[in-house]
Amino acid sequence: MKSRWSDSDAEAFVARYAATGVNRDLALRTYTTRLLGSDPKLVLHGGGNSSVKTKARDLLGEEVEVICVKGSGWDMGNIEPAGLPAVRLAELRRLRALKKLSDEDMVNFQRVNLLDSSAPNPSVETLLHAFLPHKFIDHTHSTAVLALTDQPDGEAVVREVYGDRLAYVPYTIPGFALAKSVADVFDRNPKVEGLVLLQHGLFTVGGDAREAYERMIRFVTMAEERLARQRKKLALIKLPANIARLPDIAPILRGAVAIERNEMAGTVKRQILCFRTSPAILDYVNGADIARYSQQGVVTPDHTIRTKNWPLIVPAPDAHKLDDWKKAVHAAVEAFVARYHEYFARNNARTEPKKKELDPLPRVILVPGVGLFGIGASARDAAIAADIAENTVEAITDAEAIGSYACISEADMFDVEYWSLEQAKLGKAAEKVLARQVCVITGGGSGIGAATAKAMAAEGAEIAILDRDHDMAVKAAKAIHSRALAISCDVTDPLSVRAAFDKVVDAFGGVDIVVSNAGAAWQGNIGSVDDEVLRKSFELNFFAHQSVAQNAVRIMKSQGTYGCLLFNTSKQAVNPGKDFGPYGLPKAATLFLVRQYALDHGKDGIRANAVNADRVRTGLLTDEMVAARSKARGVSEQSYMSGNLLGREVYASEVAEAFVYLAHAEKTTAGVITVDGGNIEASMR
Ligand code: ZN
Repeated sequence: MKSRWSDSDAEAFVARYAATGVNRDLALRTYTTRLLGSDPKLVLHGGGNSSVKTKARDLLGEEVEVICVKGSGWDMGNIEPAGLPAVRLAELRRLRALKKLSDEDMVNFQRVNLLDSSAPNPSVETLLHAFLPHKFIDHTHSTAVLALTDQPDGEAVVREVYGDRLAYVPYTIPGFALAKSVADVFDRNPKVEGLVLLQHGLFTVGGDAREAYERMIRFVTMAEERLARQRKKLALIKLPANIARLPDIAPILRGAVAIERNEMAGTVKRQILCFRTSPAILDYVNGADIARYSQQGVVTPDHTIRTKNWPLIVPAPDAHKLDDWKKAVHAAVEAFVARYHEYFARNNARTEPKKKELDPLPRVILVPGVGLFGIGASARDAAIAADIAENTVEAITDAEAIGSYACISEADMFDVEYWSLEQAKLGKAAEKVLARQVCVITGGGSGIGAATAKAMAAEGAEIAILDRDHDMAVKAAKAIHSRALAISCDVTDPLSVRAAFDKVVDAFGGVDIVVSNAGAAWQGNIGSVDDEVLRKSFELNFFAHQSVAQNAVRIMKSQGTYGCLLFNTSKQAVNPGKDFGPYGLPKAATLFLVRQYALDHGKDGIRANAVNADRVRTGLLTDEMVAARSKARGVSEQSYMSGNLLGREVYASEVAEAFVYLAHAEKTTAGVITVDGGNIEASMR
């Protein structure tokens, strides 16, 4: 591992923050914290922290000694000085005299000694930083160092590499007791450049920012050099000749890990999947000893809240025996859940006060022949689980290459998993109404489609925008958030539709809501119109809806967790317009299609509904711009409004609201909502 320290970057940080009153120490602390936090081999999703001891002025203008330490909720990779709250150092150090200190009292004491009462909670490892004398302290969960210490004789392995340059601290759960034991170990070895916390991570210390940071890089490099020597390769299993494709297996897995199914309410707690594969992941999941090394436990304790202690392993999927595989997957999930219940009961029996069991589902699935999946309530959470799982693959592969992997005991893992301070990291915000659902919108690049994508995202759904115009799809997706998927798709080409749905499944694991929206109007007098025109319109305004809905149903049935089909029909489906036959005929067929899907797939819990919109303001403009334009033009826009009973302009966002309502109207199927300002000829009877 190379040092990324740069004098000019460091001075740029100092200069930039000086303007806002941040001192040199804190500016440099911000700089190297970012260096550490932006390397996933050092720091991953909240694992790791850093501190600097410096001086600050309190309200009375008096200079006080403080420790600026990473605050919870901040990511080290993009931290700001505000993410390193200042705590009165002398007060913290007095705590070392105590024999015991509860987590709650520790957190409270840290808070009351903040210089800024609105600052985030200082790290749970604050006291460890405070009890050591060094000005700069860096802490990471380096993958390479973990591969060395996560061995049955881990201490001997790291001692051989680092000798007396580092001190060694046996595993203890973070908090007051660990801070005291680290301080005691340091007192006996005051010349060390850092400390290895066995089965947890590495601390380095320094008189300045560069020294602490470059010691971290040096010791991690030494670990990497050790791991490069005397390696043995993992033995591999023999795989089926025809491994199933990812889009065919992901919905089965996603269905198997959905929980809290309520048949009466039509609800189920779904999960989002995040798939990863690489040669390294395949070697790991195809390993003959996977059942041993993957089931030991986490490589460092705080991973447990993201990945649980062990992943689910399912058999390699044979493309010709997917029905059997589905049964095996469901059985594997059941066995996982049973094992989790036993683990909870066994460990809760010895714990006071008693804990409430968390959901027993896996967060990571290993699939031989294919790769791994992270599982989460959102695409973001699933990606975090997948990141950690990938990191785990590397650490355990390396650990096995030089010895055999071993981690902290089950009892220690339980204590971390059910530790209130770890659970607090996850947050308990109420979920949005469409959270955990994947929504596909065709023609999503503009108009009603783009507005619907935005509205579905606002309710928490993961979004895939399909559009014939790739740039428009990308633009609409970017307007939502970085996780929204943009896929170019010609809905009149069944192969293109299939490929688009495959991409959605690859990205999120499945599909729950489909808004079949793409359409266009063709005109022609029905007595003389060219057949070609009629057929073209049928391709887009009928067959494309059928092809989209068929793909959705295939995936929804594979998941077995219900689903929702939504169609953009038109007033033409009910009320023919003069010379609009080529448009109205396929739209009428599509309205019938809605009812047919509702009838044939109600038994699968799949609902089919439509929104009947008319004369909607669409295009690339935002609704505000449309409103402004309409105001400016005055009379010329009247034709749109005067076409409806209410005399009101209808916006794409209002059509989108109707789709959102239908997406969570669990008791409504074969329904049509009209959003047209009132058109009695097109009203449903
Ligand atoms: Zn740590």
